[in-house]
Amino acid sequence: MRKNIFLLGSTGSIGQTTLNIIKKDKKNFRVKLLTTYSNVDKLYKQAIQFKVDDVVIFNKDEYVKNIKKFKLKKINVFSSIVDVFKINKKKSHITINAISGIDGLEPSLNIIKYSSNLAIANKESIICGWNFLKQELFKNKTGFIPLDSEHFSIWSLLKNVKNKNINKIYLTASGGPFLNSKINKIKNINPKYALRHPNWKMGKKISIDSATMMNKIFEVIEATKIFELNIKQIEILIHPKSYLHAIINFNNGLTKLLAHDTSMSIPIANAMYPNDKTYNHPKNKFKYEILNGINFIKPDIKKFPLLAILNYKFNNTYLEIILVSLNDALVKKYLEYKISYFSLQSIMIKLLKKPYFTKYYSTKPRNINDIKTMVDRVNIYVNKYLSK
Ligand code: NDP
Ligand code: MG
Repeated sequence: MRKNIFLLGSTGSIGQTTLNIIKKDKKNFRVKLLTTYSNVDKLYKQAIQFKVDDVVIFNKDEYVKNIKKFKLKKINVFSSIVDVFKINKKKSHITINAISGIDGLEPSLNIIKYSSNLAIANKESIICGWNFLKQELFKNKTGFIPLDSEHFSIWSLLKNVKNKNINKIYLTASGGPFLNSKINKIKNINPKYALRHPNWKMGKKISIDSATMMNKIFEVIEATKIFELNIKQIEILIHPKSYLHAIINFNNGLTKLLAHDTSMSIPIANAMYPNDKTYNHPKNKFKYEILNGINFIKPDIKKFPLLAILNYKFNNTYLEIILVSLNDALVKKYLEYKISYFSLQSIMIKLLKKPYFTKYYSTKPRNINDIKTMVDRVNIYVNKYLSK
């Protein structure tokens, strides 16, 4: 029987990669739900191609403008996940959340009930709302799979391991497009260069985060939550070839490493295939020559000043929400050419120290509405700060 898939954020990079996997194996999978924020043309093409029943357009204006277009093709169109499931009660075998930014949290929380498994690429939601996600997953007996390649690798290495006596986890980072650039040369670098990641093809926001190392900072925090580790047990290592995705050193003296090509289709496809089937990668090959002369580098805080953020105590308080939403807002400003590459990082560090925010660093949000209120507050603050 074909397995039902719900795909949130289908119009993005991870969403498209997921659909490319399904395209090659339509006899095993059936896409039941696709979503976009505002890329309606792409969503429409995807919905027709994959004969999808339900779609969500989260942007309200675009939703209203396009209801008729989808209805004409007998596709149900909604503006929220809650509305979809007022009508449709059928569960997915797996739901994939490939939305970018903190707005991915609420759709996950609302769809867990209708998902046998939830695979999340959306790291921002794990960082900001892991406690809420965990509770909901447990309540509904929904399985969880992290899709971020490093976390998928760690998760795979730990699967079926009885003694999870972990000493340290090393998260590898490519170093981004400016690893070998002089700091002075990149202070005002145009976003189009920051978007050119050496190894991965990704959405715009995560590409900028990879250049500044914010992506790896997020991944450290993400790993502490998913694998219940102390932040001191995780170390970042720059590995420019990006072939090793996880290194776990256990207290018993063993160290496990996991390698794969820089293609997100590998973690996504391995997460999608049910237990009774295995995934055969079409271009499978162990490229041992990449590991010859492997060259790990410890990241330099002068080059990647945002690394100082790892000195904060992340304890599921508003700190995580403020960090993620400040970064969402500032990356957007950088991509709109409103601030420089240097300011993106210096303003980030400066604003995190403002008493306006620090007073919340020991308080925990009680629910998703508390989180949303804080996100709005951060956005208003950033806009005011930059208009001064
Ligand atoms: P993209 O920017 O390419 O795609 C994001 C998707 O989310 C699009 O479908 C977009 O719709 C939708 N979206 C954006 N904002 C909202 C919103 N406010 N509400 C609802 N939907 C929204 O991102 P990526 O695919 O690169 O990344 C997705 C997530 O996966 C991120 O959290 C990223 O950190 C993580 N990730 C990505 C990797 C990669 O290789 N790309 C690797 C590891 C993790 P629209 O098209 O209308 O903008
Ligand atoms: Mg990653």
